[in-house]
Amino acid sequence: MDDATKARLQWLDESASDHGWNNREEINASEKCICSACGQWSEPAQITKWYNERHACCPHCGLTGVVVGSRSGLPLEAYENCRIPE
Ligand SMILES: [Zn+2]
Repeated sequence: MDDATKARLQWLDESASDHGWNNREEINASEKCICSACGQWSEPAQITKWYNERHACCPHCGLTGVVVGSRSGLPLEAYENCRIPE
């Protein structure tokens, strides 16, 4: 993982801290989701594991509390385009 990717993941992790938990409704209402731990996109249908039925587990890395849905209102598109939003 290069420094730019690390920086983006750190930005996402800090910005998304309120959205990684208790996010089942938000995830299900989202078009897509991104993981702030491994940086991989997923679709809500791919998320089949829920910690305590409420917290999404990343289908790629298996971590909990790191999946952020597009419904969170965070500029995930900017993240996807490799730009850290100002
Ligand atoms: Zn992940």
